[in-house]
Amino acid sequence: MAEDDAVWEGVMGRVEIAGLSAEPGEVSRGYVSVPGLVPSWDMPAVIVRGREPGPTLAVTSGMHAAEYVPIEAVTQLTRWLDPDSLRGTLIAVLLVNSPGFYERSIYVNPRDGLNLNRCFPGDRQGGPAARVANFLTQNLLDGSDAYVDAHCGDLIEALSPFTLWTRAGDPEVARRSREMARVYGFEHSLGVDPESVPGAAYATAALRGIPAIIAEVGQQGICDSDSVGRHLRGLQNVMSSLAMIDPVGPPLPDPEPMSQMVWMRTEISATYHPTVVVGDRVVAGQKVGELRDLFGEPLVALEAAASGVVVFLVTSLAVKAGDPLLGIGVSS
Ligand SMILES: [Zn+2]
Repeated sequence: MAEDDAVWEGVMGRVEIAGLSAEPGEVSRGYVSVPGLVPSWDMPAVIVRGREPGPTLAVTSGMHAAEYVPIEAVTQLTRWLDPDSLRGTLIAVLLVNSPGFYERSIYVNPRDGLNLNRCFPGDRQGGPAARVANFLTQNLLDGSDAYVDAHCGDLIEALSPFTLWTRAGDPEVARRSREMARVYGFEHSLGVDPESVPGAAYATAALRGIPAIIAEVGQQGICDSDSVGRHLRGLQNVMSSLAMIDPVGPPLPDPEPMSQMVWMRTEISATYHPTVVVGDRVVAGQKVGELRDLFGEPLVALEAAASGVVVFLVTSLAVKAGDPLLGIGVSS
């Protein structure tokens, strides 16, 4: 804590986003709009600016519109924070994929069918997803001192809570990102090569010099209070590690470090019958499920592609060619 205090002393990061601003000690809420898009793309955003100066933490949720736990957790964070005792500024975009929210879109946004979290840093002359990514890169990520992209399993996904950070070029950025992942307090953590997650917002931020993580807890369209509370606590822990707030409780256990996440995907559209659940430990070659046709005829016997923990599992009967099926976290 003492080291962080020294590092952040006198820092004054970004305190506005696209015309939405707050004075010291103020909370501002409003919609920010991506320029040049018709129909408009408006995202609810909140700035909580502490009375005292300090770093700026940028947070996004709802990049995937049916991931409800992080949307609720980040919203609660903005209402829980007291600007009188906050050092620095929180800028939260509560629902990035706003066009997908009432459509309950899975993975992608309904305007151009693209996954926003594969489109960073974006392009201001591009299509809707590229423009949204460019807008957030320039108006939220750049100028912030740290960034958390809050996610959970999508409508058809179960997962064991994990955080990912990027082994960015700058070792100090990587070190700070890893520390954010550690204090978040989820079960698993993995440092990834940025090339392996092209277009991801947190990797883009890290490559631009902003310590960043993606954090995942919750699943399957269920907005349960336990998962919401865990995301909220993780965000609070990041803020206290940045000396923006006092600690809200004792430190959480360190995550189990993973050396890699091995994804298994389907090459065919089929029905999916996994025989494992998240948290199961599997050994390479072990049967983990089956793909069948619509008559129930077995098509593919699925064998674990690595030994490790099932961290991520699709739970939909229907899977489309190219879809992920499960992710195995390999212990380091
Ligand atoms: Zn997501």
